[in-house]
Amino acid sequence: MTTLELHNVVKRYQGAGEAISAVDGVSLRIGPGEFVALYGPSGSGKTTLLSMAAAIMRPDDGEVCFDGRRVSDLSESESARYRRENVGMVSQSFNLLGGATALDNASLKLLPLGLTFRQAHRKALPWLERVGLGARAKHTPGEMSMGERQRVAIAKALANTPRLLLADEPTGNLDSQRSREILGMLAEISHEHKLPALLVTHDPQATAFVDRTYTLRDGRLSNGLDVELLPTVHQ
Ligand code: ADP
Ligand code: MG
Repeated sequence: MTTLELHNVVKRYQGAGEAISAVDGVSLRIGPGEFVALYGPSGSGKTTLLSMAAAIMRPDDGEVCFDGRRVSDLSESESARYRRENVGMVSQSFNLLGGATALDNASLKLLPLGLTFRQAHRKALPWLERVGLGARAKHTPGEMSMGERQRVAIAKALANTPRLLLADEPTGNLDSQRSREILGMLAEISHEHKLPALLVTHDPQATAFVDRTYTLRDGRLSNGLDVELLPTVHQ
């Protein structure tokens, strides 16, 4: 089964003084089609945790497993291959080429898998259609709104038909209406394709779209949304 598991994962950074534990003993299990939010303020360790789930970074302690395979032990080239084949990652900065078409942008990451441009286009186009941009495939991100750019980035993340969906503050640059559209879309895609999905966010409205919420605070995980951390609403 395509399940993401983290067992007592630790990541420390060595600063000028003593090392800080950015992620401090986190265990987490996300099954197929589960859309899980990790809520936490800035600096709580969210991106570090996601980087370990994506095998971009290795934990100092503990292990990360996907599909029963220990990914935290992979060599650099094996991790790169694991990411190319299995991981779809959406981030706050859309990482698109402004001058290339939406279709080219969504297709580019397929080229290292050995596909021709034509094959890559054929594979990426249905994802652009899925995110509602089929008619705009030949437009460039420069001609698009922020919400549309994030949709292109989602199509790009999914173009390799990943088995794991990771999103790092995907609504960080969007207004609340556009954020809800993107969150709803990520939830649907995770459920439709039975993808384990981990959304890290400091947007409290995200919790309405997910199956479970955890809070990360100083690198430590707790169940549910920690209301103490919610932004104060001024009347
Ligand atoms: P978040 O994504 O929740 O904002 P991060 O995972 O980026 O949190 O960072 C967690 C902690 O680790 C913060 O205190 C941050 O300053 C520190 N940190 C992150 N990356 C590095 C790095 N490359 N070197 C040193 N410290 C880092
Ligand atoms: Mg971050």
